[in-house]
Amino acid sequence: MMPKGHQNLITVQPLGGFDQLLTYSLKEEFSSIIRIGSLVKIPLGKRKVLGIVWSLNSTEIIPENQIRSIHEVVHQQPVLTEEMTKLAKWISKYYCCSIDACLEAMIPAAIRDGVKIKTRRQISLSKRKGEEEDSLLNRSPAQASIVSYLRKRNSPISVSELLKETGRSASSLISLKKKGIIQESEEIVEREAYEDDFTDSIETAHESISLTLEQQTAIQAINDDLKSKKFKAHLLNGVTGSGKTEVYFEAMELALSQNGSVLFLVPEVALAPQTVSRIRNRFKDEKIVVWHSHLSTGERTDAWRSLIERNSKIVVGARSAIFSPLNDLRLIIVDEEHEPAYKQEDTPRYHARDVAVLRAKFLNATCVLGSATPSLETLHNVSVGKYGVSELTQRVDNRELPLIHLVDMRREAEKKKSLPILSQPLVEALRERVQNREQSILFLNRRGFNTTMLCPDCGHVETCKDCSIAMTFHRTDFYLRCHLCGYRKPAPSRCSECQSFDLQKKGHGTQRIEDLVADLLPRSTRIRRIDADVMTKKNLFRETLSDFRKGKIDILVGTQMIAKGLDFPRVTLVGVIDADLPLRIEDFRASERAFQMLVQVSGRAGRGSRAGEVYVQTYAPFSPSIQFARKSDLQGFTEDELKMREEFGYPPFRHLIRHLFKSRSEAKVEYYSSAWAKELDRHNLEEMTIKGPAPAPLEKIKGYFRYHFFYFTKSVSSTITKLSEIRKDFPLDPEVQDILDVDAHQIS
Ligand code: ADP
Ligand code: ZN
Ligand code: ZN
Repeated sequence: MMPKGHQNLITVQPLGGFDQLLTYSLKEEFSSIIRIGSLVKIPLGKRKVLGIVWSLNSTEIIPENQIRSIHEVVHQQPVLTEEMTKLAKWISKYYCCSIDACLEAMIPAAIRDGVKIKTRRQISLSKRKGEEEDSLLNRSPAQASIVSYLRKRNSPISVSELLKETGRSASSLISLKKKGIIQESEEIVEREAYEDDFTDSIETAHESISLTLEQQTAIQAINDDLKSKKFKAHLLNGVTGSGKTEVYFEAMELALSQNGSVLFLVPEVALAPQTVSRIRNRFKDEKIVVWHSHLSTGERTDAWRSLIERNSKIVVGARSAIFSPLNDLRLIIVDEEHEPAYKQEDTPRYHARDVAVLRAKFLNATCVLGSATPSLETLHNVSVGKYGVSELTQRVDNRELPLIHLVDMRREAEKKKSLPILSQPLVEALRERVQNREQSILFLNRRGFNTTMLCPDCGHVETCKDCSIAMTFHRTDFYLRCHLCGYRKPAPSRCSECQSFDLQKKGHGTQRIEDLVADLLPRSTRIRRIDADVMTKKNLFRETLSDFRKGKIDILVGTQMIAKGLDFPRVTLVGVIDADLPLRIEDFRASERAFQMLVQVSGRAGRGSRAGEVYVQTYAPFSPSIQFARKSDLQGFTEDELKMREEFGYPPFRHLIRHLFKSRSEAKVEYYSSAWAKELDRHNLEEMTIKGPAPAPLEKIKGYFRYHFFYFTKSVSSTITKLSEIRKDFPLDPEVQDILDVDAHQIS
């Protein structure tokens, strides 16, 4: 017992919804084994709950008779490293969510629920062996035969197996154990099902390729970062097909040789079978953990355990893998860093790329962000000197970037006297490819969920005068609304640019395209489709990709999911059916998305020995994002777009916080969002620009009516602090929920 008044006090973060650190005392028997991050069972009110040891000395002053002590140490080995507790604290503050929500993202459910790990008892000989033992054994042949078996075997064996092998009884084992001649250990029973789940059947043989000069320069720069053992963030800005993966691999080799571990993030594991198999191929001796959202509870627990026990040093995974508990993490790679998939659209609403940079910072590690079309946020960080940069401007083997043709759909419409879906030039190009036995991808953009007003004659889109984003047409009252500021005006009957009466809205899906193409091309043409429906069937998706690679498919029709990092050498034609859709979305990132989409899609063409061609169908051939994409002019686009962003104070110049109000009652959500607006007015919130309330683009989802505000601010932390204070005293109706989304991306 500890002397009274010198109680050993620690703080514990309870799991399961109670979001406050609590102080407990520690029995002496626990004090030597407990560490920051250990999982413990604590009394909370009348319940017993699990909690995580947060700090080993509490400074809280509590009357002695009110201090309760920890019941049990459930998992002595920390389930969170100290670094991860820091990360959780930061995330909960920055993204304005509970620590508990962060822990939920960090610790697998099975561990959080205190499920015991499956173990097997193993028997082996004790270290100390001597004549004394031999003499003892002379008196018991049964025990002697067990010892001699174990000596010969020289590795641990399970109890049942040992008894079976020697034909002896459990009582002999008990006596041997009592005498200290044999010892027992626990070994974890592992499943290995997560292995090989997302690899691609095609192996890219790792012949030793000679790296290009640009690759070598990039590798040198990143290696210098790693060797500095200081925090570094580094953009690898390389055109599509420039061999970025090779650069990542060299950096990974170095990090491993520094006895460090590596985290490799991809936007979605299911879409990266090639990357996963390339990593497996290159790092054959490493046990690689593939971490994604489709793991079963058991698989996730195993993967997690294999990391905290340092059995694996490489994790490949999607967004949530940013929380994988790697030890000695030296290198984090974020491939396709511009992808919106890195943003979690649920609490905690973190951005995995930003958390990656932060985690690297906490660890003095290196973070490499790679893309052919980096986000403006990252480019901005490069330009202000926060991130280093390496550029790969050439495709490997000096393959040409594809030739991009713009098809002016206004003229096509004129020819046909209606809005065509497939243009003549694109159909002819497809026909030619089919004749030559070359492959094509037809790409359809389907992110638009709202109707905006597009003029088919001049390509003009009605935009808000204050926000420079497309306005949305509302069928209910025939008004156009701005979903940022709420400004509205009656829908015009004529185009405000060219006075045309033809303003139209039209949509089409992948199925429709597939049918159309089948009608227009020879019967024998093999056409397949990849869209959200196909994606839900994991095998079907993989098979389709594999068939396509093997040349069993002539034309692949798909949504944006096929725009990502796939590498099909035989594709010589890419058709973009509706390049303008992103531009019509009521989002200030619309042009950035349109540009990225076009460059990425084009990047799928001409990766083999034959040059590629891209046909882009557009109603707005002169819009900057389409013109810059046509020339693959990232720099030109970036300068142009940043100018606009700066003028309006949009990200990356200020942070955007979106504040969503939702309720089943339309009246309540309207009332409380305008009450909140008045409340904000009363406070002196000079440092931020407030826009709203406005109906959200999806005004009603699953019976919930939605309104939102946008706050633009230089400092997230000071804004969040102020908002939280106002929010605390704001009498929100229990039937209305409000959600803060820091650095919001999706504004649906
Ligand atoms: P990116 O990710 O930049 O689009 P990849 O890394 O997928 O490009 O590389 C494209 C292809 O080029 C891959 O098949 C890769 O094996 C190959 N490759 C990479 N570097 C070289 C090189 N130095 N010489 C020849 N081929 C290379
Ligand atoms: Zn017009
Ligand atoms: Zn507006």
